[in-house]
Amino acid sequence: MVNEEDFEQVLNRSEQVYPPKEFLKKVYQCLANFYRIAVGSNMLSSFDFEWNEFAKTYDLGILETFYALKVLEEEGFIGLSESFYAPSKIHFRVDPARLYEVQIAHAKLDPLIKLLLRTYGGNLFSEYIKIQEPKLAKSLQISEDQLIKSLQLLAQFEVMDYDQRKDKPQLTFLTPRYDAGKLPLNLKRIEQRRELTIYKAAKMVEYARQTRICRTQYIQEYFGEKTDNSCGICDWCKENMKAQDPEGTESKFQSRVIETLTESGELTLQQILEKLRVPATEKNLNFIRQLQDQGLITLHQNGKLSIHGHE
Ligand SMILES: [Zn+2]
Repeated sequence: MVNEEDFEQVLNRSEQVYPPKEFLKKVYQCLANFYRIAVGSNMLSSFDFEWNEFAKTYDLGILETFYALKVLEEEGFIGLSESFYAPSKIHFRVDPARLYEVQIAHAKLDPLIKLLLRTYGGNLFSEYIKIQEPKLAKSLQISEDQLIKSLQLLAQFEVMDYDQRKDKPQLTFLTPRYDAGKLPLNLKRIEQRRELTIYKAAKMVEYARQTRICRTQYIQEYFGEKTDNSCGICDWCKENMKAQDPEGTESKFQSRVIETLTESGELTLQQILEKLRVPATEKNLNFIRQLQDQGLITLHQNGKLSIHGHE
């Protein structure tokens, strides 16, 4: 299940997707240096491109570099081949005990298996993990071709799934090389995309976090539609069906009222009931009155309610 930490990560990530312009220029300059390209030359030249290695060579942040390359591509300066986005993936199909038998039976594969376990850990048994063949080959001090053969062998033995990337990632310069300082980035467009990315991430997190109404209703509300029917199948609906005992319902309902007022500031009683999609029954009104009696919410002269202490 998602937790607060995941939400924070999504929000932080969204801020990084469009790195600052200085960093974009730096990455562009490093690319030119990497392939020794003079200003004004090499339009449409393609090169093998292992971006992890590239980032390491210039001591650039891995994730930040990945995002910068994407922006440079979006801006039309470079092209990145499909395998840039779809690296090889592996996954162990056997349990650790069976894997150990293979290690013993095929001593030649032992160093590779050990390296995989050391590098990617136990997740290899439960999910597909992205790998970088050049990096693994380097660690084992063998050629990339030899490494790929060993991986294919493990796949043949049905020990592992090896979802091999189609080809080596390629980077193509789509324009003659610019002077990095004068790289004509469309900063306005980049800023707009940056804001949109952050906005979407915030909305997604808001959707996951909210406990006021049913997920489906929340989406409909987001698109400006309204229905009084909850979907009955989302986690919120299931949670609310569980809360059949009166006390559970009461505290649940009351905490939803508090949450709604915290989000919205001031609301009339009618607005609260509408937002929560509940009828104005005596029971519901009593629950709200109790909150007022407990001093948790305040009724103002304008007839609106708010959290106590908030005007
Ligand atoms: Zn629902």
